[in-house]
This record gives sequence, C-alpha cells and structure tokens, in this order.
Amino acid sequence: MAEDLTKKAAEMLLNGATLLGEPCPYCSGVRVMKEGQALCISCGRQPEKKDISTSESTDESASPIEKTLQKKLTILSAELEQESDHEKQQGILKTINSLLETIEKTKGKQ
Ligand SMILES: [Zn+2]
Repeated sequence: MAEDLTKKAAEMLLNGATLLGEPCPYCSGVRVMKEGQALCISCGRQPEKKDISTSESTDESASPIEKTLQKKLTILSAELEQESDHEKQQGILKTINSLLETIEKTKGKQ
C-alpha cells in the first residue's frame, strides 16, 4: 500500500508535481502537490484544498537529516523535470523513491 503511494508520488513528480514543505496534517507524512491537490505519500489522504503555501514553510519539527533529504528531493525533482532521457529518468526516480522511503523511516522513528 505504502509502496504504491510512493510510486504514485514519484509518478506525480515526474509529471510536474512539487514536493510540499508542509507535512501531512494527519500523519506528518511527506506530501506532493499537483494542480492544487496535495497527496500524502504516507497515508494517501488528500486534504481539501486550501491555502497550501509552498513558500518557505519550514517544518519546525523536521530533523536536520530530514531537511537535507527534502532539499535533495527538491533538487532531484527539478532534475527529473529537465531530463529527457528515459533511462536517466528511471535512475532519478529510483533515487527519489529511496529518498522518500528514507524520509518516511526518519519520521516513523520520532
Ligand atoms: Zn498523511
């Protein structure tokens, strides 16, 4: 189930979704946003759209490692957007997948 969500999130990122700085209000999971819809990759909930600001909403509770991972993800999703080579895209997606999993694990330990 969670694996499906991670895959879906990776697909969304591939299709131009962005990573949300704000964690999921239900489970503090990582969320991706596309066309105003935020999807939590942890619990799969899509909270009703309201002013989800992508502006520097730094997660106060995020640990330094988490912040680093999220920054990395942002960079990777930008790379993914620019990459036209399918094999390289797959490589980036794999990295994104493992990063997302790592973030989830970090959160789970809190
Ligand atoms: Zn959630």
